[in-house]
Amino acid sequence: MAITRESPVTVLPGIGKTRAEYYAKMGVQTLGDLLSHYPRAYENRGDVTLLADARIDGKSAVILTVASEPRCVRLRSHKSFLKFRAFDESGSCEIVYFNQDYLRSQFPIGATFRFFGKVERTGKKFSMSSPVAEAWTEFAELPPLWPVYRMTEGITPKQIAKDVSAALDLLAATAEDPLPPALLERRSLCTLAYAERNIHKPTSWQALATARRRLVYDEFFCFSLGAAMACKQEKQHGAPICPNGDVSALTALLPYELTGAQKRAIADITRDMARDVPMSRILVGDVGCGKTVCAAAAMLIAVQSGRQAALMAPTEILARQHYSDLSPIFQSLGISCELLIGATTAAQKRKIKLSLASPDEKTRLQVVIGTHALLSDGVDFAAPGLVVTDEQHRFGARQRAKLSEKNTHAHLLVMSATPIPRSLALVLYGDLDISRIGEMPPGRQRVDTFAVDETYRERLNGFIRKQITEGGQVYVVCPAVEEQEESPEEVILSEIGMEGAHREDRPPLKAAISYAEELQKTFPDLTVGFLHGRMKSSEKDNVMRKFADGELHILVSTTVIEVGVNVPNACLMIVENAERFGLSQLHQLRGRVGRGTRKSYCILVAGGDGTTVSENSRARLNVMKTTYDGYRIAEQDLAQRGPGDFLAASADGSVRQSGGLSFRLADAGEDVSLLTDASTDAKELLDADPTLKNHPILSERIRTMFTLEAGLIS
Ligand code: ADP
Ligand code: MG
Repeated sequence: MAITRESPVTVLPGIGKTRAEYYAKMGVQTLGDLLSHYPRAYENRGDVTLLADARIDGKSAVILTVASEPRCVRLRSHKSFLKFRAFDESGSCEIVYFNQDYLRSQFPIGATFRFFGKVERTGKKFSMSSPVAEAWTEFAELPPLWPVYRMTEGITPKQIAKDVSAALDLLAATAEDPLPPALLERRSLCTLAYAERNIHKPTSWQALATARRRLVYDEFFCFSLGAAMACKQEKQHGAPICPNGDVSALTALLPYELTGAQKRAIADITRDMARDVPMSRILVGDVGCGKTVCAAAAMLIAVQSGRQAALMAPTEILARQHYSDLSPIFQSLGISCELLIGATTAAQKRKIKLSLASPDEKTRLQVVIGTHALLSDGVDFAAPGLVVTDEQHRFGARQRAKLSEKNTHAHLLVMSATPIPRSLALVLYGDLDISRIGEMPPGRQRVDTFAVDETYRERLNGFIRKQITEGGQVYVVCPAVEEQEESPEEVILSEIGMEGAHREDRPPLKAAISYAEELQKTFPDLTVGFLHGRMKSSEKDNVMRKFADGELHILVSTTVIEVGVNVPNACLMIVENAERFGLSQLHQLRGRVGRGTRKSYCILVAGGDGTTVSENSRARLNVMKTTYDGYRIAEQDLAQRGPGDFLAASADGSVRQSGGLSFRLADAGEDVSLLTDASTDAKELLDADPTLKNHPILSERIRTMFTLEAGLIS
């Protein structure tokens, strides 16, 4: 059988069952998967220095000639090391390898190598321990950049590099480019074969940048194509007319007056839902502006018109929160409402499914609130009227395709607190109509924001103590646990403008669990809880409920709390390693406090353990001190870092694992024009070839991209 991108990794030499299993664990099953397992950084081995000029704080590349025969020194307990001298014009260096006697024959006197590693210096003497060595001649240039892969259990980065090389070679002959040549030319894109080779084994910085540009374009292009196809499908079907737009029963129950912006949004929705064309409207407004009540109004309109409504949230925490906010209101209105999430018991799920599908209006469930569990098979609505999604961009592309597939007749309302610039909204949501809530409910106070560094630690602890003594509660947010494997020597993508500029320095991260332990030691009399994406959702909910009930004083968390969570008593938000977050993300986090009557604060701690943070990062954090408008922040973010924050799911990875947008490269910074180009091109292609029958490879790719998810949704 011919070897293709779909062939299993076991067709590669040396990959047996065991390694294939490890690969499967990281989501790599086919050669194609392997090729899209992109390096996370590159070592800069091309920047050769003299021994005398080697960096003191990291690894260097030096070109040295072997001057003495390697000598093997045996130690007790079966240990040994190999030792020899090598030199360049600036000095002589002792090179040592531990427990690798077999290397002895590889370093003959007079041979020259490029060594890459840390150069130690004591007085006038240099030494290197276990450097990477590559034979060097003046005529054959060595690649300047070396890929660094994410660490994974069972497979070394070196093995990955080797397997990737083998896959590239095997596929080189058969590789077909899914993009039409005319498109490549118009957008000055390189071929896919070139791109894949150079993202893994770049021959230069320039080649790497070219490769990456092509691959990012592909991600945007395929996504736009899929989204546009799903969107077309939607518009074809007639929608249930929901003419009963009087929501006074709801507003009468509210303890407050709707703002003008809320009234306008509800009027937009009322108008849309009274038509037989499906509404597709996005309701955007800054955190806390009161979108939920507008969604409730829309759901009421559906129910009053004899239809059912569903509200889908990206996390269980958020779904529960919506349920506990809305179910009392619906109850007072005499509307049935249930919660359907992964954690719902099987018996309860069965009951909900039955009543959703009930042909009898009397026993039919009217409103259901849940997570993507709502998309699973067997959840069928007898009289679908409206689907509301909260923070829809956090759902995977495939989940969204599934959503539109399932609800071809329903009206769609999307809520988003992520102030998505228009250009991006078009790509992410297609042709949605927009209602903006640009006004906060009266009486909101601003959350005072400060950016500090590690030298403030003691004062910060004092401040935590003060807030809690006064009856408040505190959030501490840390970057995700799994991102801890960084080593400062590596060339980080940002150096060539390939990743968010804020990533240039990588101070040690505060991981949620260990930081919670640390805080517990600092405040032995207080209760500290923690929350991260890897916890079971029942555990997460339990912790969240404890915090909401005031049983926990401090909640240490990764960004799983980022969206929507409401604990009005919380008045202090501390973000550790704040330089690693996007501004929009920080704005979302800040929105978790200042939700009640307490004066609230947000403190952004830059760096950790005394590491310095670049000027650039500081400048970014300073934006947060002076800007409180989510849109302005989003624009700044987009300008500084590209669309990454809007596309990537949470830094925690939890959303991504459950099928978030899988832009692998595109969540690094990239200019928006590539995104808009790709989206324009996708629409043009579809106009010319609506079913992609003339583009079989592309059509296959989109098909797998948008349907594979079915198995993941539960
Ligand atoms: P978001 O838009 O971020 O989803 P919510 O809908 O959760 O915001 O609303 C935030 C808080 O503001 C809720 O506690 C809600 O009851 C309250 N709220 C909403 N609208 C108004 C209003 N017009 N006046 C006063 N409070 C309001
Ligand atoms: Mg909300």
